[in-house]
Amino acid sequence: MSEHVSDLVSALAATPRPLLVGLDFDGTLAPLQDDPSASRIIPAGVEVLARVAELPDVSLALVSGRALHDLHAIAEVPEGTFLIGSHGAERARVTRFGLDRDVVQLADEEADRLASLGARAAQIARGKDGVWVETKPTAVVVHTRLAQDEDARAAEEAALALGAELGSGVLHGKDVVEISVLHASKGEALAALRDELGAAAVVYAGDDTTDEHAFAVLGDGDVAVKVGTGDTAAAYRADSPEALVEALATLA
Ligand SMILES: [Mg+2]
Repeated sequence: MSEHVSDLVSALAATPRPLLVGLDFDGTLAPLQDDPSASRIIPAGVEVLARVAELPDVSLALVSGRALHDLHAIAEVPEGTFLIGSHGAERARVTRFGLDRDVVQLADEEADRLASLGARAAQIARGKDGVWVETKPTAVVVHTRLAQDEDARAAEEAALALGAELGSGVLHGKDVVEISVLHASKGEALAALRDELGAAAVVYAGDDTTDEHAFAVLGDGDVAVKVGTGDTAAAYRADSPEALVEALATLA
């Protein structure tokens, strides 16, 4: 067990109940993939999350940038898990019968802006190999992971400018620019869920810049975990999804 992880294990052991465990998906539970549809939670993670979810007074939430339907399709999480998608704009709970989903209703003006954003983002991607556009219920996303550096940079700059013009929120993550027509963040969604559950403490783990919004709403007695390298406000670190899951296993 690495030094990082043993610090984290001690912090987890000291968390009070009720406890909310919030986890990003890609890069946190699932190793990053060039093709996002190939992303899968590590096998030990499936088993550990099932055990964590069965603990009394512990709630589990996945908090992802993915669209909710996409997250649900690949997540392999137990019944009762909350799924927060699109960086906080969508939320649902996993039940025996499928997703119990909070419906997102866009105002006409927001729906119009989403359509314009989709068309303009498609123009940005045109002629740039490996740049592609994803449309979510509340946002468009320009993906550049598969593009050459020059095309990726040009697409991201153009997408950021488009976001400043037409977006209500813009997120610049690893090889993605997401332009939303709603104000939402992982931090706001996590804080709202915490309040609803009356959680005495929150554990949150993530690997990307967008997870810093979630770290920012945590306080004393909460446990913020950065997965991988890079600057962070989180007090704890896990070197990989495997290390994170190893630490979470001690909770159960
Ligand atoms: Mg991530």
